[in-house]
Amino acid sequence: MPRRLLIAGNWKMNKTATEAIQLAAEIKRELFDVDGLDILVCPPFTALVAVQDVLGSSIIELGGQNMHFEEKGAYTGEISGPMLKDAGCKYVILGHSERRHVFGELDEEINKKVKTAISDRLIPILCVGEKLEEREADRTSDVVRGQLEAGLIDIDLTDSAKLVIAYEPVWAIGTGKTATSQQAQEVHLFIRGLLNDRYGVDISQGIRILYGGSIKPANIEELIKEPDVDGGLIGGASLEAGSFCEIVKKSNTAPNI
Ligand code: PEP
Repeated sequence: MPRRLLIAGNWKMNKTATEAIQLAAEIKRELFDVDGLDILVCPPFTALVAVQDVLGSSIIELGGQNMHFEEKGAYTGEISGPMLKDAGCKYVILGHSERRHVFGELDEEINKKVKTAISDRLIPILCVGEKLEEREADRTSDVVRGQLEAGLIDIDLTDSAKLVIAYEPVWAIGTGKTATSQQAQEVHLFIRGLLNDRYGVDISQGIRILYGGSIKPANIEELIKEPDVDGGLIGGASLEAGSFCEIVKKSNTAPNI
């Protein structure tokens, strides 16, 4: 079953609304005729509405970088799923390694967020990935399995489009070190096997599994040609229209499987 590639930019805590408008406008201009894959930008919360205004009806979609698992209430400083939806978001990144390791988010909390996101009709991009010491101790499979299974407790899926997984080895994020395409494929295939055990072949074959970790224009083609790499989650290189658009264009010409 062919999976449509997804290239997603995670702008993290970068860009004021004014800067975000400019970046979104450049990306929109540069990618106006690209339509062979899905494109997503995830600006900071304060820029979501402004970026949505710029993107308008273009094919570039909007996502949040995090959300709370409650719909509303006394949670100072938090943002809910309905707020993201109202701002124009289609996706939300959940369980990013910076949320897990800098802000101490645990699997249980991430699982609640995945549940709420799906019920709010947002598509969660559930991030999983091992730290360097875990890879070196040969624990990559255990860590990825643990995060994936815990993140998906009680998540029933009848449609593969409702979930995206991102494999992001922590040692490759923002470090300039990319997993080799073979390393990425190996873990992606392992993840697909876990999804198959849980959801069966039809759903698991349709779920997109993105790779993330120091993707650049120079390494995207190598990664994207792997059969189970269905796109990329891009941090640093998504902050400049030139590099982000080059990554999108190089992915657009990659054969769909
Ligand atoms: C990320 O934060 O999801 C990421 C992959 O960052 P970078 O591309 O900068 O490694």
